[in-house]
Parts: sequence; C-alpha cells; structure tokens
Amino acid sequence: MPRYQGLSYWFDSLGEPLVVRPRLPGPLDVDVCIVGGGFTGLWTARSLLRAQPDLRVVVLEAEVCGFGASGRNGGWASALFAASPGRLARLHGLEAMHRMRRAMQASIDEIDKAVGEEGIDCGFARDGTVVLARDEAQLAKATLELAEARELGIPEDDLRWLGPGELRDYLDASRALGATFTPHCAAIHPGRLVRGLARAVERLGGTVHEGTPVLEVVPGSPGPVSRRPFVRTPAGPVQADVVVLATEAFTCLLPGQRRRLAPVYSLVVATEPIPPEVFQQLTRRGRPTFSDYRNVLVYGQFTTEGRVVFGGRGAPYHFGSRIAPRYDQDQRVHQGIHRALVELFPALAQTRVTHRWGGAVGIPRDWHSSVGYDPRTGLAWAGGYAGDGVTTTNLAGRTLADLVLRRESDLTTLCWVGHRSPDWEPEPLRFLGINAGLLAARLADRLERLSGRPSVLSSLVARLAGHA
Ligand SMILES: Cc1cc2nc3c(=O)[nH]c(=O)nc-3n(C[C@H](O)[C@H](O)[C@H](O)COP(=O)(O)OP(=O)(O)OC[C@H]3O[C@@H](n4cnc5c(N)ncnc54)[C@H](O)[C@@H]3O)c2cc1C
Repeated sequence: MPRYQGLSYWFDSLGEPLVVRPRLPGPLDVDVCIVGGGFTGLWTARSLLRAQPDLRVVVLEAEVCGFGASGRNGGWASALFAASPGRLARLHGLEAMHRMRRAMQASIDEIDKAVGEEGIDCGFARDGTVVLARDEAQLAKATLELAEARELGIPEDDLRWLGPGELRDYLDASRALGATFTPHCAAIHPGRLVRGLARAVERLGGTVHEGTPVLEVVPGSPGPVSRRPFVRTPAGPVQADVVVLATEAFTCLLPGQRRRLAPVYSLVVATEPIPPEVFQQLTRRGRPTFSDYRNVLVYGQFTTEGRVVFGGRGAPYHFGSRIAPRYDQDQRVHQGIHRALVELFPALAQTRVTHRWGGAVGIPRDWHSSVGYDPRTGLAWAGGYAGDGVTTTNLAGRTLADLVLRRESDLTTLCWVGHRSPDWEPEPLRFLGINAGLLAARLADRLERLSGRPSVLSSLVARLAGHA
C-alpha cells in the first residue's frame, strides 16, 4: 500500500509486499485484547502465546502493525532506559537500578534470540554505541557520565572511554575529542522486526486485525456485580478478561487519557547507499550506532544497505497533544538534521537524502517508563518509553505476560513495574512547558559551542529529560 510505504525508509525497504490484514468483522470475546500493534503489543502477544498456547489473544491495530513509532524509529536496540541509572538509583536504590540495567541488557539478547527463532531478517548487529565528545563542553559531560557510572558501580565493560586514536576505528567523525562506548546496543531494521513479529503472533495462534481503531477502553469492575473490561470499536465491542493498552504516544487520543503521555516529535532522514570506500572510512567496526553529547538529541545508524539513518529532536510539541501526518514532515527540522549529519561526517556532503519522516515518542511527565497490570479492572499497560522503546518494549512484553498470567518472576519485581507517572499539566501550560524545554536545549547547545563549557541550561535540560 503506497500510503504506508512512504511512512519511513523502513516501510519502503520491508523486502516484501505490505499486505494489510482484515479489519475486525464484528463483536468478539477473548481472553486478552491488546490495543496497538507496535512492539509493545506484539511482544506481549508473543510472550503470552508462548507461555499459554491456548490463550485467545487478539491484537487490534488502528492502521497497520508498525504504523506508530515501532515502524519509524532510529533502530537502536539499546539498553537505554528513559530514566538514567543515577536517577533510578536515587528513586529505587542501587540494587534495583542494577537489576533494571541487567534486565535491559538481557532484553537485547532476547530480541536476538527471538529474531533467530522467528526467522526475522532485521539485520541485527550488536556493535555497540559510540557517543562523541566534540567540544570542551561535550567532553566535560562525557567525563561526568563516566565518573558517575564508576561511582554507581557500572563497570568499564558497560561504558568506557575511547581516546581519539582508538575512536577513529569505531567512527571517523569531525572534531571528535574522544567518545564513550557501550557494547549494549544493536542496530536493527525496525520495520522488518515489527512486521515479522505480527506474523510470529499469528503463527502462534493469535489474531491480528489491522484497520481497527479502538474508540474507547472501558475498565472492568470488581465486586458483587462484576464486569469484565471491554473495548469499543466500529465493528462492535470486544470483551476480554484483560485489556492491554499498548498505544504509546497515541494514548493521549483515547477518552480519559489526554494527559497521560505527551507526544513529542522526532524526525529522521536516510541517505542513499554510500560507496563502500566511504563506509570503510567512516567505520571499521561493523555497524555501531552513534550520537554525541549535545543537548538536542541526535542518533544515527548504518543500515545493512550501507545507508545512514540519522534523526533528532527539535520539532515543536503541538498544542493539545495533537498527532497528525503533516507533523511527520518539517522542512526546517529535516534540513537541520541533514546539516548536522554532514557536519559530523563531511565525507557525506555530496550524498543524497532519499527519505525524510518522523513520528511521535510518548513522554511521561516524570520521564519514567512503566509497565503494570491491575487485576481489579483487568487493565494492563506499558509505555512512556520517551524515545528508548525498541528494547524496553521487549522487556515490557515479557513482563506483562508474567503479570497477566499471575506468574511471579524476576521481571515482575523490577522497579518500573506498577510505577505510575503523574499526569501532564492541562493546556496551555503543557504547550508552554514542553516547548520552553526544547528551546532551552537549543539555546544550551548554542551557548556551549561558543563558550566551550557546559551551560547551566544544559543541567536544567538534563533534569527535565530524566537524566539527572
Ligand atoms: C522517530 C523516532 C525515533 C526513535 N528511535 C528510537 C531508537 O532508535 N531506539 C529506541 O529504543 N527507541 C526509539 N524510538 C522510540 C520507539 O520507537 C518506541 O518507544 C517504541 O516503538 C514504542 O512501541 P509501542 O508499541 O509502545 O508504540 P507504537 O509503535 O507507537 O505502537 C502503538 C500502535 O498503536 C496503534 N494505535 C494507537 N491508537 C490506537 C487505537 N485507539 N486503536 C488501535 N490501535 C491504536 C498505533 O497505530 C500504533 O501502531 C523512536 C521513536 C521515534 C518516533
């Protein structure tokens, strides 16, 4: 379907025709109804069906599986969690932070194992992440991050310093004074992963309906006149024992959920395939993902086709948490992202950009992702990944399966289970606050480039973004 092909470079390179699945034909009764066919919904369905093959599981997707962030992201399957290790340690204790960190790292292995088991060719390459320090201010931030990591007991094997000489092998970027390196990230083709997962769910006996928007989620109620939860759709209600909300940034469009998560846009470009000799010059270490220590986040990966996919924040938050296809395109922001890429790798100056797209990430008010299940209402949820969801969704799916099937496990006692983020402020405060934060990040970058020192604004931005 051409409409979906243009969604992202990933949807344009699925390597198979995009066949849209049939809509829900009418009312239904199931054990588990999952709302949203992205990574969260599909990992949850897969985990449930593997644990209990006779479970009746239906996934209801408004558009096509992968239509949301799962089919549009930067393809970093990293161990990054929305709240930083330092913040997790302060909120939940050191041991809880380390357990969460290890669970995230293990989830990358789980993705690797799953793509092998399901025969999903998503170019999984666990070559780590390089975060460059490209001026004195960025160097100070890298040094601080390393010092904090050692203080928290995070070993060198997980995060270490690369001096300029060693760095050149990993990434030949301009103005690099050095970098931090973590091996805990795989570059993947998220489009192939999400479409492959939908097929895996069907093979396991689950049902996936595309083109099926859920109009309302109605919680169940306990007590003498108990009621099961159900969802309303254009084809009628779907009754279930458990309803899983897996709608991430779109959650705010559901009745009663407007202030749960703020949709903030991240925009991306993909280049044409770069000549092998240029590729060789940029990296000799496989396909590491990369970024730097600026305040307005940028992220990149080298694809199996030899393209560079490079994205960044910087697009404004839209009043009233609006999400619309027109926000996927913003010429000013796309041009800025392209300029940043060429500035990073001058060898790409003549390389054409072939794809431009964007999508919304779901930001919780306290930048703390969560997963949970309330047996009294029959509602389960996971999300608020704040742009770090490719791996976290796998952990979410496995955790939700344990919670819903009432199995106590190492996963169900992790510190994000049952966490509840506060709601965002009503408008216009939400609009003013989020856009002021974005502006502060841009300003901090400008000041730091000029002064060579971390600005006060940048620690404010880090605090706002859950890193401090
Ligand atoms: C541009 C961009 C770059 C990113 N880069 C990275 C990265 O490199 N690494 C990383 O870890 N994370 C990244 N992220 C974040 C990551 O992609 C997400 O956190 C993750 O994909 C969330 O998965 P999900 O299934 O929870 O949500 P989604 O993938 O958004 O899926 C939600 C689904 O629910 C459907 N839906 C919504 N409302 C309804 C409804 N009412 N009824 C039925 N269906 C509905 C939507 O159509 C959608 O398909 C990025 C995100 C974006 C936008």
